[in-house]
Formats: sequence, C-alpha cells, structure tokens
Amino acid sequence: MTGADVVLSLAGTRRQRGSESDGFRLEVSHLALRRGECIAITGPSGSGKSTLLDLLGLVLAPDRSDGFMLNPQPGAAIDVARLWQRHDRNALAAIRARHIGYVLQTGGLLPFLPAIDNIRLSRDLLGLGDGDGLVERLTGALGIGRLLRKKPQALSIGERQRVAIARAIAHRPALLLADEPTAALDPGQAVGVMKLLLALVRELRITAVIVSHDWDLVSALGLRRVQAEPVTGEPLAVSRLTG
Ligand code: ADP
Ligand code: MG
Repeated sequence: MTGADVVLSLAGTRRQRGSESDGFRLEVSHLALRRGECIAITGPSGSGKSTLLDLLGLVLAPDRSDGFMLNPQPGAAIDVARLWQRHDRNALAAIRARHIGYVLQTGGLLPFLPAIDNIRLSRDLLGLGDGDGLVERLTGALGIGRLLRKKPQALSIGERQRVAIARAIAHRPALLLADEPTAALDPGQAVGVMKLLLALVRELRITAVIVSHDWDLVSALGLRRVQAEPVTGEPLAVSRLTG
C-alpha cells in the first residue's frame, strides 16, 4: 500500500469516555483505509463503535494520537492530529463538510426541508453546481426519484434512510461513515439498502466505514473478518470487502 492509496490512517490513537477509573477507553493501535475500500466495524452495544466513527469523522477529539492523517486526494494529506492539538475547530469543520459524509441510524434529515433539498444541502453549502449529474444518478439508483418533494415525516423509515444515503454521498466525499444505517429496517430491507450503499461507494470510489452490531448482515454483504484487529482493548472487529 503506497501513501497515496491510503485515505485515512490512525496510529496510537486513544479516546476516554467517562472517568479513568470506571469509564470506557477506545484505543486504535493502527488502522489504515485504502482509497475506495469498504470496511465494516462490528461489535456489541457499548463496545465503542460510535466512538470510533466519531473519531474518524473528526467529531470527537482524540485524547492522544501518534498519527492521524486524512488524504482526501493523492498528494493532499491533512494532519488531523495536529489540527486537534491546535484546537482548530474551524479547519476541522471545513474538512468534515468537504470530505466526509455521515449516515446516522435514524437519518438525521432536516424535517423542514423536502428530500431533494436535504440531498442537495452539502453540495449547495460547498457551491457545487449540478453539472456532474450525480444527484440524479443517486436518486435514480436509490429509487427515490418520485419522493423528492416530500418532507421526511411523509416518508417511510426505509425511504428516509435512502434519502440520508443520497445526502451523505451527493458531495462525493472521500470518506463515507455510516452508523448502523439500517438498524431501523427489517432484515430483508436492511440487506437491500446496504447493497445499494456498497454499490454506490464502489462505483464512486468512496472509502466507506459501516458500523453494525449485526454480524449476519455484514457477512451477507460479502465482508470478511480480518485476522489482525487494529482496534484493541474492546471486542470490536474490523471486516474488509475482499475480491
Ligand atoms: P456503541 O456504538 O458500540 O454502542 P459507544 O461508542 O456509543 O458504543 O459507547 C462506548 C462506551 O462509551 C459505552 O460504555 C458508553 O456508555 C460510553 N459513552 C458513550 N458516550 C459517552 C459520553 N458522552 N460520556 C461518557 N461515556 C460515554
Ligand atoms: Mg453506537
């Protein structure tokens, strides 16, 4: 793996939640994600999955880090550890808005905006035009073309999650983070929505980290548990899409 192929790398990165004595500590000894790669993080409730995702998403500050680099395009490496040391929250927020997409368990759509405006929000904030046709491609692929004028409360949960996926990808981020994105769906629907998500990130060469407590779902997607577990201290497992 050459440096240019690595979109995200962490070494010796730690985050404590709650007190030192009876709180929770997440420790990532080493984690590197290649461009276009998809990984899943699995583990039981409370094992630190959301904590890890929030660290990767530049939402949660590490207590210490020996290395935390985001490389959204080849040759454009960003030293995230240093930005956290400097408490440069504006720079972190700008990087998050441009290079990261986040799908939450329950969508997190803005209730007062129709689906299409939710989807376009990050593009509009970044001043991206419609020239690349990506919004149309996404809404077509996700089967939500006829729902675009509806507000989130008029959509089913499955429809909301598909809108949330389109929203997280529409600005073509380097990194997509999804925290239990299908936990509110029935199992059959969950596999279908996850497969759509995987197909889109593969096509667009977006690096994706999908969190799930549901190992059956992760294996149904063809993700395989990796031997070396870079996240230590807690029963978190990392799976990579192979082949
Ligand atoms: P998961 O997503 O795997 O269910 P989390 O990352 O949400 O796990 O939580 C990991 C641990 O950190 C849990 O023990 C949880 O209680 C604790 N925790 C999460 N958020 C906070 C917080 N804001 N303050 C203190 N402890 C927290
Ligand atoms: Mg969680």
